[in-house]
Amino acid sequence: MTPSDLFAFLQDKKVELVAVSKTKPVEAIQQLYDLGQRVFAENKVQEILSKAPLLPHDIQWHMIGHLQKNKIKAVLPWVVMIQSVDSLSLLKAINDEAQKIEKTIHILLEVKIATEETKYGFDEHDVPDVIKAYNANQFPYVVLKGLMGMASFSEDVSLVKNEFKRLKSVFDASKSNVANRREAFDTISMGMSGDFELAVEEGSTMVRIGSLLFGTR
Ligand SMILES: *Cc1c(COP(=O)(O)O)cnc(C)c1O
Repeated sequence: MTPSDLFAFLQDKKVELVAVSKTKPVEAIQQLYDLGQRVFAENKVQEILSKAPLLPHDIQWHMIGHLQKNKIKAVLPWVVMIQSVDSLSLLKAINDEAQKIEKTIHILLEVKIATEETKYGFDEHDVPDVIKAYNANQFPYVVLKGLMGMASFSEDVSLVKNEFKRLKSVFDASKSNVANRREAFDTISMGMSGDFELAVEEGSTMVRIGSLLFGTR
């Protein structure tokens, strides 16, 4: 699938494409930018800090990897969204740094959906407490846009499908709990190079695609 085919497929399904450029040089990012892509993501703060200043300033950068609290301050000016919010204390720290620079930051809660052991992400049962705190206006510099999840790295289609269904159902339940800026809670970030078609079938609104666009890492 060429980038143009992917753009057309996702446009038809009204799914947003986040181009995951981790480990790739700025030249490769610029090439995709020249084809019209504006949303890019990295999983390491250092890569955002080294690449973003060299690239067009209308790129919208997303952080998709585990974020250490001591790096929030450095990365915050460069990103429009942090998809990998995986603890309440991180969310609070992001809000505090955002307040200091008077920036409103969009975030997704990363939820563990994979059956395989994964390090980061909320247990789905902990999501309601986060929403409760958000509803109580504890994070005024944060807009909660939705959820992010990563399925198991597996050939088992029904397993992966069920994990995506799980995230969709957690999203639907969460949406009915969001009382603060509910219209903004509209994003289910799921699907990568190997499983995005399944994810789209199961209700993804945003896919994060690296190797299919940039080649293997
Ligand atoms: C690397 C990465 C992706 C993209 O993976 P590909 O298989 O290259 O498409 C998506 N999401 C996260 C969180 C990643 O770290």
